[in-house]
Amino acid sequence: MKIGLFVKQEVVSKENENSLISKIVSLSHEIDNNHPEIVFTVGGDGTLLKAIQKYLPIIDEVTFVPLNKGKLAYFSDFKVEDIEEILSSFSSFDKKSYPLLRGRFGNEEIYALNEIRIENPFKTLVREVYINDEYLETFRGNGLLVSSPIGSTAYNKSLSGAVISPNVSAIELSEIAPINNRLYSSLKSSLVLPNNAVISLKGDLSNVVIGYDHLVNTSAKGNELVITISDKKANILKRKGHSYIKHLNETFVGK
Ligand code: NAP
Ligand code: MN
Repeated sequence: MKIGLFVKQEVVSKENENSLISKIVSLSHEIDNNHPEIVFTVGGDGTLLKAIQKYLPIIDEVTFVPLNKGKLAYFSDFKVEDIEEILSSFSSFDKKSYPLLRGRFGNEEIYALNEIRIENPFKTLVREVYINDEYLETFRGNGLLVSSPIGSTAYNKSLSGAVISPNVSAIELSEIAPINNRLYSSLKSSLVLPNNAVISLKGDLSNVVIGYDHLVNTSAKGNELVITISDKKANILKRKGHSYIKHLNETFVGK
């Protein structure tokens, strides 16, 4: 198979990267970082998020295998030492598909695995929020964040948004520091919607920051950010029989 290697430079020396390449080749696979079928990422979740952006044009053809190298690595069931086992019995693992979020503004289109958010670091962000063309509220506060189920344990969780099992097809809207008083009010809780919901955040995009996963856009133009679940999916390898509840316990509870 054609294998891509995407490593976090800070945690993998050139020497270790070369020995990983030698190992892959010695197992009769070919290194092809341009059109890989499998991409091993070495690092944490941030490393996988970056690899997903790199391979966006061919995302459907790629299976990502995140190898945990010292970070939280919420996405990863594997260590670097598992590479041989993975390559020799690839089909005995589970390939799970996680839909990416899509954001549209002006002529631009962005994709994200975790979340797309809009924030105004300079003054109160004011947005009219529409769901499927129906008016919900005029939000005032620091920002709004739209998360996927797999992203619900990331920034969304810090906002007290619900954790959504990735087996549920949904999209979640959460508030970042809403202003609520006699004059202004918003829903004040996270809103979980079906995966075909169209979330439209209306208001001038100059002076806002549009964040998506580890990336930001500070020069967006237009008057509307529309966020949906896209038809692009990230395929990520998992161990069979992998328990989501156990994973939540180990990652967030720890006792
Ligand atoms: P980062 O600052 O290293 O990420 C923050 C932490 O979130 C890291 O520990 C990361 O794991 C973890 N993480 C990423 N995706 C996750 C998920 N789906 N579930 C649970 N934990 C997750 O920055 P980064 O590595 O470039 O990641 C970008 C992400 O950071 C964004 O998508 C956003 O969700 C998150 N973020 C969170 C906050 C917040 O909670 N207030 C603020 C900004 C950004 P690793 O250590 O393995 O990378
Ligand atoms: Mn990180």
